[in-house]
Amino acid sequence: MIVKIICCTPRIVDKAPAQVVGAFLLRVNMSDYTYTDKRKFYNSGVWSYARNRVLRRDAFLCQMSKRYGKFRPAKVVHHIFPLEYYPEYRLKEWNLISLSVEWHEKLHDRTGHRLSYEGWRLLEKTAAKNKITLTREDKAKCLGLVDKICDRQETQAVAAE
Ligand SMILES: [Zn+2]
Repeated sequence: MIVKIICCTPRIVDKAPAQVVGAFLLRVNMSDYTYTDKRKFYNSGVWSYARNRVLRRDAFLCQMSKRYGKFRPAKVVHHIFPLEYYPEYRLKEWNLISLSVEWHEKLHDRTGHRLSYEGWRLLEKTAAKNKITLTREDKAKCLGLVDKICDRQETQAVAAE
């Protein structure tokens, strides 16, 4: 599979290791939230506390399966607004949802850095409920359509599996 990465400036390219596709996307989207920040966050006590609260709130059941009348154990707590683009919502319980592994994979692409259309639809519903106005740029970055909003100065192809 070939992953095409669009970068804003060559300087940014130097900073991120080529194999860290997520870091590229973060920088392309001008987020200050780096790959390291993300790792630190997932190892933090505040995250494990929030995660447990959400799992308990959702009765340890996959909330997407439940919408379809199925009861599956939840294994993952998902950020509806992706962590790397919306770190300000990282601990908001309205932004967190308990999911089975299967459903979680349906909401992301294979790399986990962009939402699927299903993931985006869930985000739209959550935004409406919380009176958050979404822009074209929100949609572009969440769905990984970064080249649409970013001046294309450099394109790099990275071969992944
Ligand atoms: Zn997720």
